[in-house]
Amino acid sequence: MDELKYGWVGKILKVDLTDRTITTLPTSDYAPDLIGGRGIGAMLYWEEVPPECKALDPENALIFMTGPATGTLAPSAGRFCVSFKTPVPEKEFYCMSLPSGHWGPELKFAGYDGIVVKGKASEPVYLYINDGQVEIRSARYLWGMTLTNLMLQLYKQHGPKTRILGIGPAGENLCREAVIISDHEHATGLGGAGAVMGSKNLKAIAVNGTGAVKVARPQELIDLWWYFSRLVTRKPGEEDYPSMHRSLCDGLYHGAHIRFCPGHPERPQDDETYFKNMGLDDPICLMNDAINKGILKLKWGGCYACPVNCALTWQSSDIDIPSGSGQCNEWMSWATYEWQGYKKVCGIPALQFSSYMDDLGLSITNTLGYHFFWFFELVKLGIFTEENTGVPLDKPWTDEFIKGILEKFAYRKGIFDQAAEGHERFLKNLSEQYPAVKPIYERVVNHPGYHVHWEVLGGGFNMPSPGSIVHAVEPRTWAFRPSHLIMIGAGASPQRGAERRNVPRVPPSLKANMPTTILRHNLDLNSDCITYCSWAGMPPTFSKYTSDGIGDQSVGAKVFSAVTGINMSHDEMMEAMNPVANIERCIHMREGRRKEDDLYNDATYASPAWAHTSKQDFIEAMEEYYTLRGWDPETGIPRRSTLEKQGLKKIADDLESKYGVTVPA
Ligand code: SF4
Repeated sequence: MDELKYGWVGKILKVDLTDRTITTLPTSDYAPDLIGGRGIGAMLYWEEVPPECKALDPENALIFMTGPATGTLAPSAGRFCVSFKTPVPEKEFYCMSLPSGHWGPELKFAGYDGIVVKGKASEPVYLYINDGQVEIRSARYLWGMTLTNLMLQLYKQHGPKTRILGIGPAGENLCREAVIISDHEHATGLGGAGAVMGSKNLKAIAVNGTGAVKVARPQELIDLWWYFSRLVTRKPGEEDYPSMHRSLCDGLYHGAHIRFCPGHPERPQDDETYFKNMGLDDPICLMNDAINKGILKLKWGGCYACPVNCALTWQSSDIDIPSGSGQCNEWMSWATYEWQGYKKVCGIPALQFSSYMDDLGLSITNTLGYHFFWFFELVKLGIFTEENTGVPLDKPWTDEFIKGILEKFAYRKGIFDQAAEGHERFLKNLSEQYPAVKPIYERVVNHPGYHVHWEVLGGGFNMPSPGSIVHAVEPRTWAFRPSHLIMIGAGASPQRGAERRNVPRVPPSLKANMPTTILRHNLDLNSDCITYCSWAGMPPTFSKYTSDGIGDQSVGAKVFSAVTGINMSHDEMMEAMNPVANIERCIHMREGRRKEDDLYNDATYASPAWAHTSKQDFIEAMEEYYTLRGWDPETGIPRRSTLEKQGLKKIADDLESKYGVTVPA
């Protein structure tokens, strides 16, 4: 098909580990309509994963999908999407996650746009893909290895340029929140994809590719790289980053545009004042001593073709400080801004956390985010003690303490065996035994039906912003995603946000924000389909490097057109995201999700962050969102007319005839 001459490499690999069959699917069955990444991943999931299968059953699929821009010079296009049924919540359901790094580009260089893995191997195996050749190899000697040892061993066998993703002991031991890690540090974060991989006896996928991704208009793509990198990192003419350290810490993450949101406080020019004002310690300053003594060497790096480079590699000559690498959110931000209560977990302890968690294949978001919150709450209640945890509670944040907890999680030792079932299941069971645990459960799990979300820990991430609606209906997201932050600041019109930043305003109602919510949701879907990194500040709605503070949301359409040669306007690209949102919604409908599952629990609406928005306000906003999406406001089920208009008639038919869902007209 001529249309797929550029961008996509043309084949999706399909591996059944039960009967060891290896086949391919043509990418043109799914592209260009579903673009790539999350869009194609959702359709493959619809076709491959029956609604009745459990997340850790062999019938579940692990779907790795790149996008048309992956492996090109498109800015920050190193991401790939992993789609699967999540084992984390009690109601297991379709979920996805997007790690970054270099593995996705390498897969395309090896000749594949994606991989669908199904079944379960009879013994531990890994996949080796070398320029189109695919082998299922024994991994008996790799099983039990930490991620570092796994990667070192596979580098020895297949060469140091091999790109590897794999699981650690946590995934092997089916810890429900375990991650898949690629290139040492890029994780699937939330959702428990590592446990799904472990349930298939699949330890790793190692890839070597010497091919290339053809680009329709290379010079246009090079110009776009410079254009977008300047919008998020520097002024035209500036050769270097103004301050990488400050760029990373600016506001929240490295979203250089966020600072220009109306209502966002001005950030002091020097980092010391910035952290002092927040009552925090500067994480890099905390390492200064070790750096000055030459114990630690730091080096910035990043993912394939990324202009931001938010990753830090540290090499240590002290046996008590493991060497490693991580994104800003691992080694610094988690420990400072977000988790203010845990400010001791920055500097050296943050490096220790990051290295041990990556090595064991645990989720940094869950472990550092949730687990230490409720861990200490349970200590206060006398439910967790030194005796039943085996952890030195009188020496918090020491190496012994950090390593002790993390290893017990990953190897499911003692009481941590139950905790490894995931905080939702664990805290729910515990609250039945100890009523005092119920408020903790409700605070951590504020989404009773479908919880793979990053919730209200620390006082209100899940604030009544338009992001809270997307947060509620999506398979896996957080209200904290950069585009949602923009909405919080920009009110109903992100396009006009920068003009309005000095104008006092009355925030519009949540319901009035729904057109913007659809736009932002589609922008997020688009970044996950192309694929590019939203953490890189893409799409840059605002920019601190333009004179009017306005950025450019059209990165998806511009990059897609230059890469594939298929010209698409920004509006057309946003329109193309509607079927993706509907396929995902239909998957959830097939799996039993309904309107009540899109609501938060009552404790959430009672929290201070929701003081001016009632549960009823939220429901009305949600119904407006459903209506604008073409879904029935009473049930949240997509209408047949909507699905047919978007070319999804077969899905509407199957929903009714095969899965017994009444699809409204
Ligand atoms: S911003 Fe960070 S995580 Fe995103 S692509 Fe760049 S280096 Fe990777």
